[in-house]
Amino acid sequence: MNNMRDTVPTLYIVVPCYNEEEVLPETISRLSDVLSRLVEKRMVHADSAMLLVDDGSHDNTWMVIEEHFRPNPYVKGLKLARNAGHQHALFAGLMYAKEYADIVISIDADLQDDVDVIEDMVSKYREGYEVVYGVRNNRMTDTFFKRFTAQTFYGLMEKMGANIVYNHADYRLLSKRALNQLSLYQEQNLFLRGIIPMIGLRSTEVSYDRAKRFAGKSKYSLKKMLSFAFDGITSLSVTPIRYITGAGLIMSIVSLLVGGYSLISHILGHVVTGWTSLIVSIWLIGGIQLISLGLIGEYIGKIYQESKRRPTYHIEAVLQAKQGLHGNLRESGG
Ligand code: UDP
Ligand code: MG
Repeated sequence: MNNMRDTVPTLYIVVPCYNEEEVLPETISRLSDVLSRLVEKRMVHADSAMLLVDDGSHDNTWMVIEEHFRPNPYVKGLKLARNAGHQHALFAGLMYAKEYADIVISIDADLQDDVDVIEDMVSKYREGYEVVYGVRNNRMTDTFFKRFTAQTFYGLMEKMGANIVYNHADYRLLSKRALNQLSLYQEQNLFLRGIIPMIGLRSTEVSYDRAKRFAGKSKYSLKKMLSFAFDGITSLSVTPIRYITGAGLIMSIVSLLVGGYSLISHILGHVVTGWTSLIVSIWLIGGIQLISLGLIGEYIGKIYQESKRRPTYHIEAVLQAKQGLHGNLRESGG
């Protein structure tokens, strides 16, 4: 607490939105309330805002953002030219916001995360923390399926040696300093939850109860969730490849034993009885080899993607007022 911060920071709340027309009006009104309360308490600067990132939605998300942009000084918009995916949309928003803000809080559009914790996060920042993780108290409001997959995921990640914060999603505060560090990570296979602990600045947690989605459906299907988990693991750890090497070693030892056994059987003259075990091992080894090839292929695919160094998102339009509330000149875009 010896490095308390005295200046009033400018806060940007970054919200990735993919087909969120149903929840967005409510999200905007709740976040506006939070922002005006914090401005009133002089905890954040009056230029603070929410940056709504439209991740190439197919519904009226961008129109909703434009509608609110005009009357509401707290609303800013960023429109991506195509669907870049949750992590990249969030990253685009963070990188944009860091030019305007001292601190950035990222939150999902669906109001599952308690917006009242934003105040606690800002307090923590003023106590001197650079990263504040929002952590869920429980998962009672999630479906059994979501809870089960999430727990399996965290368990696996931990075993694979990835250092991630338990029950923390993408609800967190990052200081400008943390954002500048984050901007150095130019990854195609982006998994922010895994990267941010690597930055290693002073961090803390605040906890809250996670609510149900306010409206609309989860944008993560089983397929998206599985690929998210798989990407998370393979972009943070090479342990799976080591497991394969281990499996290969064990298989080789087993095959030596089997070899000895067959030789003895041959000498003793009961060769035909070996047929079953032979067929079984051919299939087993074939399967293991295919899985191994697939997994190694996954990593090679990642190397391929990274080596192209393609931009991960494109900005199509920006809604940023020319003048901030308090008269300082702002960039306009779009
Ligand atoms: N999202 C996005 N791009 C996508 C998928 C999702 O920007 O391709 C956003 C979505 O609008 C939401 C957040 O990412 O704000 C998290 O999505 P969702 O709530 O559907 O995920 P869940 O809470 O079910 O894991
Ligand atoms: Mg959600």
